[in-house]
Amino acid sequence: MKKKFYITTPIYYVNASPHIGHSYTCIAADTLARYNRQILGKENVWFLTGTDEHGQKIQKASDEAKLSPQEFVDKVVVQFKELWKALDISYDDFIRTTEDRHIRTVQKVLDILHRKGDIYEDKYEGLYCTPCETFWLQSQVENQLCPDCKRPVEKIAEKNYFFKLEKYQKWLIEYINKPENAKFILPSTRQNEVLKFLQINTLSDLCISRPKERLNWGIPLPFAPGHVTYVWFDALINYISAVGEFDDKDKYHSKWWPAELHLIGKDILRQHAIYWPIILKALDIEMPKTIFAHGWWMIGEDKMSKSRGNVVNPIDIVNKFGIDVYRYFLLRDVPFGLDGNFSEGALIKRFNADLANDLGNLVYRVLTMIEKYYRGDIPLADKKIQDIKLNARGEKIKSIIKTLHQAVDASLSGECDFSLPLEKIWGLINMANKYVEETKPWNLAKENKTEELKAFIRLLVEVIRESSKELSAFMPRTAESIKAQLGSDKINKGKPLFPRIDLSSKT
Ligand SMILES: [Zn+2]
Repeated sequence: MKKKFYITTPIYYVNASPHIGHSYTCIAADTLARYNRQILGKENVWFLTGTDEHGQKIQKASDEAKLSPQEFVDKVVVQFKELWKALDISYDDFIRTTEDRHIRTVQKVLDILHRKGDIYEDKYEGLYCTPCETFWLQSQVENQLCPDCKRPVEKIAEKNYFFKLEKYQKWLIEYINKPENAKFILPSTRQNEVLKFLQINTLSDLCISRPKERLNWGIPLPFAPGHVTYVWFDALINYISAVGEFDDKDKYHSKWWPAELHLIGKDILRQHAIYWPIILKALDIEMPKTIFAHGWWMIGEDKMSKSRGNVVNPIDIVNKFGIDVYRYFLLRDVPFGLDGNFSEGALIKRFNADLANDLGNLVYRVLTMIEKYYRGDIPLADKKIQDIKLNARGEKIKSIIKTLHQAVDASLSGECDFSLPLEKIWGLINMANKYVEETKPWNLAKENKTEELKAFIRLLVEVIRESSKELSAFMPRTAESIKAQLGSDKINKGKPLFPRIDLSSKT
């Protein structure tokens, strides 16, 4: 079977504008999609993102905006699409939960599970957090406050529909524990967290409906028109509604499913690692290969969120520093599973050190030398770098070039590590800069060591080409502009890639 790669981000809830957290998942997914397109071919990669458009918070937000829910979501979706465009997010499909294809699939899923007896009617009494639209167990709630947002929960009693979670609990624990599923939930700390939760708690069946009196903005249950679907149940189904259909015999068909990777933030791990596998199991659909939960970007001590009012707008950062700088900072500064601290100061530091001093400087000095010594023609352009004789340092660099791709691949496809491959690429760039300083090419030129000088410059060209090839999934524009300057036998020198930011002029 031909290898394919189906990657998803969560569908973002459109009750407000997008922030760094949203862009982090999309940039990571975009990097992996671009990378896999290089390896597997464009036709074998599918990158899905989208928006989650139902539920109470949207009903409320649209009321406040004096718009209908549909008008409201249509407006916010534009902001998301504009941001993805501004960040070079190369998604293949964008699903909205208000689209027909999604509603049709959700109703089919509800119908199948209802007929099967996995959805049943019961009276519900529980502790409900309205802003989070979440029911909590008494054991999860302290001082009658929502464990997520710390606002008061309400006791609610009403007739509702439930999806059997407990029935599948034992199966899920066994599934996660199978050695061949060691990468089902990543990082492994998250897997342990889910297992521990499942081993300690008995899952309560999931309330998947809301009575219409309380909530109108949702997908109607096909067997109970007085109720709409709980927004989380509706949302999760996007991963299959976007890429396939059920047939008359309730069998799901898709060219892309199962997903190789669901990228999510750690705050939605429970829904993705517990509800979602159980929904799929109940539908007799294959499991996704990996659910990866990344960390949060904090501002100081706090998680960035609109309720805390400390949201950084990605567009502002991009306008100020450039797309690739933003992408680089998010992917490099913190290992993907951990929390990071966002500040412009930290970003400027990375910019000056890694981008201006290391990469930008290397490219610029090599272009300058080719211009100065060879009138723009790359020396030994027709020769393979393996065939060129070099000194010990040069040979060392040559061997690093040879293994760079493998090193990048191992980190990216192994554990979704973005920071480490970038570190490896920068290891090569730094070594090349050191090589320039210790070789002192101006002396080679003065002493007429022409063969040595040619070999030296030809190797640096190779370093830049190879690094930029490996960088292209992370920083597509930078890779393109390096290619434009250094892609053929003759250089085409442009402006420095990353002119240093003078810290004294910024506050
Ligand atoms: Zn809450």
